[in-house]
Amino acid sequence: MESFDVLVVGGGTTGSFLARRLAERGLRVLVAEKEGEGAIGSSYDIFHLGTKDIARWALPTPRRGDGAWAFEFSGSAAYSALGRHPKPSSGAVVGLHKREYTVAMRRRAGEAGAAFAYGAEFRGFLFEGGRIAGARLESAEGSRELRCRLVADCSGIPSAARTTLPEGYGVETFALGPRDLFYVVLRYVAYPEGGTPVTGTRSWPFYKTWEAPQADPKGAILGVGASLGYDRAERAFELFSRAIELPPYELRRIERGTTPYRRPPYSFVADGFAVLGDAACLTRPGSGEGCASALVQAEIVAEVAQAALRGGAYPSRELLWPINGRYIEAQGREYAGLLATLVGATAGSAEENEYLFARDIVFSRKTFASLDGGVSFTAAELLRMGLFLGLGFLGGKLRASTIGALIGAAKKAELLKEHYAAFPASPRGYEAWADEAEGLWASAGSMADQVL
Ligand SMILES: Cc1cc2nc3c(=O)[nH]c(=O)nc-3n(C[C@H](O)[C@H](O)[C@H](O)COP(=O)(O)OP(=O)(O)OC[C@H]3O[C@@H](n4cnc5c(N)ncnc54)[C@H](O)[C@@H]3O)c2cc1C
Repeated sequence: MESFDVLVVGGGTTGSFLARRLAERGLRVLVAEKEGEGAIGSSYDIFHLGTKDIARWALPTPRRGDGAWAFEFSGSAAYSALGRHPKPSSGAVVGLHKREYTVAMRRRAGEAGAAFAYGAEFRGFLFEGGRIAGARLESAEGSRELRCRLVADCSGIPSAARTTLPEGYGVETFALGPRDLFYVVLRYVAYPEGGTPVTGTRSWPFYKTWEAPQADPKGAILGVGASLGYDRAERAFELFSRAIELPPYELRRIERGTTPYRRPPYSFVADGFAVLGDAACLTRPGSGEGCASALVQAEIVAEVAQAALRGGAYPSRELLWPINGRYIEAQGREYAGLLATLVGATAGSAEENEYLFARDIVFSRKTFASLDGGVSFTAAELLRMGLFLGLGFLGGKLRASTIGALIGAAKKAELLKEHYAAFPASPRGYEAWADEAEGLWASAGSMADQVL
């Protein structure tokens, strides 16, 4: 039977990056990708990556004319429900064709020594002594079994390996349903001749809509996302279209896709197993973007896995455990806080959202200027916000329920962040930690319960 150190399930951006980083560390890696070589699992064309992330992770450098590069821009602004009080953010971003860029990332992994099996679908684990010892793949040629010490599930939303783990193996096996997903609709539109080209993004958090550049400088991508289904996204887009005036446009095409929008599994690791990327729900709260977020975790997985596999060792749950704490410290704690905050921040009416934007409460310059990392407010800033919340209530601009939702969400976010900071350093104590986390998340509520 063939044997590898690591089987990576899924050759999307996460799997390709992980495979590259593991191979660069001298490990024998096979990527099993169920689609063909030139195909990718997601159905949309353009995605955004920050130029800082491309440099940080030494990703293929996109260049004009190379097939992957579509456009570049820097600067974006978020607007209130009535399209006012812009809150700018900076940072250079490249718009990339997803298929071509994924192929470039796969090529990098191949050059580093990772092997790829295309048209090969993960169908199940092989166990020895109750621990993962390999996997079964299915392809047009038939079924194939292989040995490996670590299976890394990078299969995206289907979470093909994670969801088939035996109950109690150590990683949650939930499947992603409509309450866990954001349904995104992208309209590729053309604006009239002579109009101002779209050179940055504008977003309207109240409707969860945005306008971004596209490869055609005369056009734009109008995006909207909502929980539960595309019909909810379309309703939000209708409300947005009535409230916000855009230049008249011609609709060229529509793309749809889903992105995870829920808390990640409490632990990413078990004996001979790790879960990454969309399969681990690592998208950035607020935007649903997951490519760069996943790389933060993948880098940690590569480092810890290399140490865990050293000298032919079996990568037990204990040896892989540092992946959890290191990810929480690098990003997971802030994301948990942000996810809880957003549920309260996006509650309320359009008029209330207008007031919050105008008075720099929650939707503040500081929040949007530091979208990449976490944001914390000084005592003076919190006092000022508290004052304006009070004045807003007295002046009839904010309802008590909206203020309650905002303050409640901020408190829950802090509690969650504190709890994540206390993640156990070893599997001992994990069950009690997870039970408490479950209670905190239940009280934080869900975006899926919001009605626009
Ligand atoms: C419309 C839309 C726009 C987005 N825009 C952005 C953006 O601008 N920036 C950003 O960072 N993120 C964006 N995202 C999110 C981003 O697409 C995902 O977070 C990212 O692609 C996740 O990468 P992944 O490799 O973890 O999963 P995927 O890209 O889903 O890759 C998983 C791979 O696993 C394969 N696979 C699945 N099952 C199996 C199996 N059983 N066996 C073998 N292989 C399998 C699939 O074929 C696929 O190739 C957007 C999402 C949507 C829907």
